[in-house]
Order: sequence, then C-alpha cells, then structure tokens
Amino acid sequence: MKHLQVFFLTVFSGISMMSAQDACYWQQHVDYTMTVDMDVKTYQYTGTQKLVYTNNSPDELGRVFYHLYYNAFQPGSEMDIRLQNIKDPDNRMMDGGQSRISTLSESEMGYLHALSLTQDGQPVKFKEEGTILVVDLAKPIPSGGKTTLEMTFKGQVPLQIRRSGRNSAEGVALSMSQWYPKMSEYDFEGWHPNPYIAREFHGVWGNFDVKITLDKEYTVGGTGYLQNPDEIGHGYETPGTKVKTKGKTLTWHFLAPNVHDFMWAADPDYIHDTLDMENGPTLHFFYKNNPEFVENWKKLQPKTAEAMTFFSKNIGKYPYEQYSVVQGGDGGMEYAMSTLITGNREFGSLVGVMVHEMAHSWFQHILATNESEHAWMDEGFTSFISSLCMNQIMEQNKQNPFEGSYRGYYALVNSGLEMPQTTHSDRYTTNFAYGISAYSKGSIFLSQLGYIIGQDKLMETIQKYYEDFKFKHPTPNDIKRTAEKVSGMELNWYLTDWTMTTNTIDYGIKSVEANGDKTKVALERIGEMPMPLDILVVGKDGTQETYYIPLRMMFGQKDNPYPNLERTVLDNWAWAYPTYEFDINMPLEEVQAIMIDPSQLMADVDGENNVYQANP
Ligand SMILES: [Zn+2]
Repeated sequence: MKHLQVFFLTVFSGISMMSAQDACYWQQHVDYTMTVDMDVKTYQYTGTQKLVYTNNSPDELGRVFYHLYYNAFQPGSEMDIRLQNIKDPDNRMMDGGQSRISTLSESEMGYLHALSLTQDGQPVKFKEEGTILVVDLAKPIPSGGKTTLEMTFKGQVPLQIRRSGRNSAEGVALSMSQWYPKMSEYDFEGWHPNPYIAREFHGVWGNFDVKITLDKEYTVGGTGYLQNPDEIGHGYETPGTKVKTKGKTLTWHFLAPNVHDFMWAADPDYIHDTLDMENGPTLHFFYKNNPEFVENWKKLQPKTAEAMTFFSKNIGKYPYEQYSVVQGGDGGMEYAMSTLITGNREFGSLVGVMVHEMAHSWFQHILATNESEHAWMDEGFTSFISSLCMNQIMEQNKQNPFEGSYRGYYALVNSGLEMPQTTHSDRYTTNFAYGISAYSKGSIFLSQLGYIIGQDKLMETIQKYYEDFKFKHPTPNDIKRTAEKVSGMELNWYLTDWTMTTNTIDYGIKSVEANGDKTKVALERIGEMPMPLDILVVGKDGTQETYYIPLRMMFGQKDNPYPNLERTVLDNWAWAYPTYEFDINMPLEEVQAIMIDPSQLMADVDGENNVYQANP
C-alpha cells in the first residue's frame, strides 16, 4: 500500500510567542563556588564548595540532600547489585557476564565523600546513605530564606564504567560528569534524593563558579565560559597571544550562569578546535588525535553549526554563547552547554550522536524536566526533534523520519513487557522496556500529537512550550496544556492514555458495502485508546479524497492536513461506541482502496485492518 501514502510533513517556524507563567510556580536556586584539585596520576581530587541556597518554596526546610554519584561505582553499590539482577544489563557495564563494578579494586573504584560541612559557619550533622548525603541543618531555612553551606570534599574518579570516569575505552583521561556534591532538587513534589542506580537526573537551577587545578599538559572542556583564557592557552587564548605558564599545574576558572549541572573533561592529547557561528554561539570541539577518525571530527564541525541553527529555528534560540562537543564517556550524554560523546565512529553515527545530545540542550538543559519521572519528555522529545534535524541536515529525505520509533514501539507492545511511562526510570523491569518507552514512545507522543492537532500546530506548541517553560521544570501537564492552548482542543485523554497507561490504539475497517450510488463503510474501535481518524479513499480512476472523524472528547478539529485533497469532515465519534458508520460519495465499484491514517503517524498496533482494497 506504499503508493497510497500521501504523507506530508512541513516544519514551520518563526511563530510569535506570548510568554505565560503559572502564577503559583516556584523553583529553588543555587549558587555554587567550587575549587577542585585533581591529581592526574592517582585520579584522586579534593575540593571546596560554597553553596548559597535560596529557598523559594513555601515550606521551611529542616534538612537537605546532596547527590554523591561517584559512590555508585563501588562493588556492592545499588548500581552494581541492580546490574547483577536485571535481565538485560547494559553491555557497556558488563565484562564476560560480570558486572564491571563488582571487580573494581580500591584504587579503581569511585567515591565522593564530604569531609566537613557547615551552615552559615555552624557545623551540621551529615550522613552518607550510598549515593545520597543526608544533612540535618543547624537551623531550618525559612520560606524565602537563604543559607550558605560550605563543604570540603574528596573524591576518586572511577574507571570509566558508565557516563563519567577515567581512561575511557577510547583513551580519554577524565570524563568528569556527576563529579561534585550536587544539591538534590526540592520542588512542588518535595525532595528528589534519587539514588544513582541506573539513570536520569534532576537538578537545581543556578550559577556555577568553578576553578579546576590540574597538570598543565591537560586540555579542559565542558560546561561554562573560561574566565582566564590568556593565562591558560590550549586553544582558548586570544589569537596571537603568547601564553606563558609557570609551575606544573594550571588553574582553569569557569563561570556557568543559569544551568543545573556542570561537566568537564580533560585529556593531555585533546585537539581543540573552535567555530564561531554568525549570530550564534561559539562551538568548541575536543577530540583525540586518532588518525582513523580525525577527518570525521573535522567534517562534524559544520554539521554541528547546522544542527544548532536547525534547533534554534524550530524550538527557540539557543540562549548560551558557547556549546562544546567533547570526546569522552561511553556513548553520548547531554550536559549543560556541552556533551560527552564517544568519537571513534563512522561519520553518520558521529553526526547522529552529536545531533541527539545537542537537542538535549533544549529538552533537558533548558526545559529541565524531571527525567527520573518523565524520561519520555527529554529522551522522547529529543528523539523527535533529532529525527527531523537528521532528515534535513543529512539530507535523508525520509517520508516518515519517525518510522524507527514506531517500529520500536510496536515491538515493545508485542513483547508484553511494556510498562506505563509514569514508571520511575530506574524501576522498569527491563532496560528494553525503559529504552523504548522513553525514546520511541516518547518521540511518538509528539509525532502523533502532530497527527491529532496538525503539524503546524505541533511546531507552534513546541515553540510556545519552549518560550513559556525555558529555565524551569516543566511537567507532562505543561506540554499538554500548551498543545491545548495552541490547538483549541481538549487533550487530557491523550496525555492520560498515552503516558499513564499501556492502552493501545487499534482501529479497523469492519465492512465496506454498496449503498445505492454511495459506499457504506463501517469502522470499529478495537483498542482502548481513542483517536480521531483521517481516512483516505482512492478511486479506480486514481482520484483521492479524505474523510475526517474528530474524536468527540477533543471538542475541536484540526485543519486539513492534505490541502491538495478534498476533505469531508464527518460527525465526531464518541469513544464509548465501538463502531461507526459513514458513507463515501462514490459507488462501491469505483472504490479502489480505503485507508485509515495514510500518514501512519497514529500508532495503530494492527495496521492490517486499516486498509480495504477492492479485488484486483
Ligand atoms: Zn538522550
């Protein structure tokens, strides 16, 4: 039935925005000032942290929680034990069927410990619980109050097992993410002291002032603007500056305003290239001089600029002056103003991972959803927009750039392993179910929303969502409300069925029969999840027309998605009725084919019954 497809997907942009803000919304604020001294031989480091915490909540806070992520990389940690018990462990973390964490020696494991901690100068009681530090404050922080927490800490960078660590498989010395004592987020739901078991983060918005001291041979890249480029050099200096350094170490001073995390990476052999975009950020690239891949890293640079332009145009302007693509880690992971990606890749794969991680700058590092609870909003939305971006910048010209996501979702449904998207990211029974749910089903949330409200309205929704919720913590209801405001439709049914249940969509053509000079079509709803329907009718003479059946509980209808075809808008279909009948203005003998949803953007789990074809 491929020839019947009349799929059009047009991405519009440049729609003007109104700024809206929920009057009762609040969020906490942090100002970090940190120094860290890294011993590049032992991979041990010590640091100081001055954290000014502003309590914008309506509540008095008697205790606070910090994340100590590196404690996950110890034999017997929750991360290690989970790895040993889950049916489909992450291959990167396994070696010969064994958890790589379980075999780490004292000198290879990770740790992060608070050595001292004061609140406004007074010592406080603190206790480590695995990857969480629980702090009983000396005096409660009142609503609207500020307090200064000063800590000294020491850490050891683990062998690279997952995301951060030392000596990655590609030989990157230091991938420093999740490396500092990080204040846990307190929001309208309360504290989020999630232990570091597998994945996904939630952080407090604020400003970071970080000084990193290490061997002067190392080049550092990551989050933040370097404050002392002419003392540092390493490709940061003003062109023509002669950089003179004394001693064995350098102290790098970074400032990162309005972010919720801080990552850095360092290696003595990094090549450091920069690309100044016109009206845009400066792009930085840090990568190893691997002769096999160095050419790909050069070709990656203009593609990175193209991706930046694409996202700024289609979501909203990138708000920082810098973005860094850094080789490190173990795949790809997004951070504030930067990403860590593995670099020994074919060109297409290198562009693909850069595009995905850069898209996270919007869907996580600007629109900071709680990933642990709603991974579909960052991984899914990122997958959606990266598919569009790849289609354009790599000239893939796919008719349906989201096809892979639909395939994955159908495979998950058929596996019987699906769990609702409301499941905490760490508590899916399988990594498979988490992955498809977060990435594929999350991407379909948007592509299918485009089917429901129309593609123009979808892009308008994404842009308004960005304008209204940038630098905040949007929730699932926020994207739904935005789509409702843009489309004029009621969409609660969509959010609840798609994200809170495992209900599936299955509509079918039940019968097609002659009805005088017309043709009577009976449709049935087999799945529990409701949807509006687009129906394409193709005549034997090649004519095409469409019929549209709005869903009653939408209380609205979309514009004609196929403006070149005549569309008949039929009566709405109320969900409780299992069947629906309508007439086509064409005698049965002239009908060649009838198809439900020619765009295939509606995730109908059984495509077989979506098509009627006259006997050849
Ligand atoms: Zn991602």
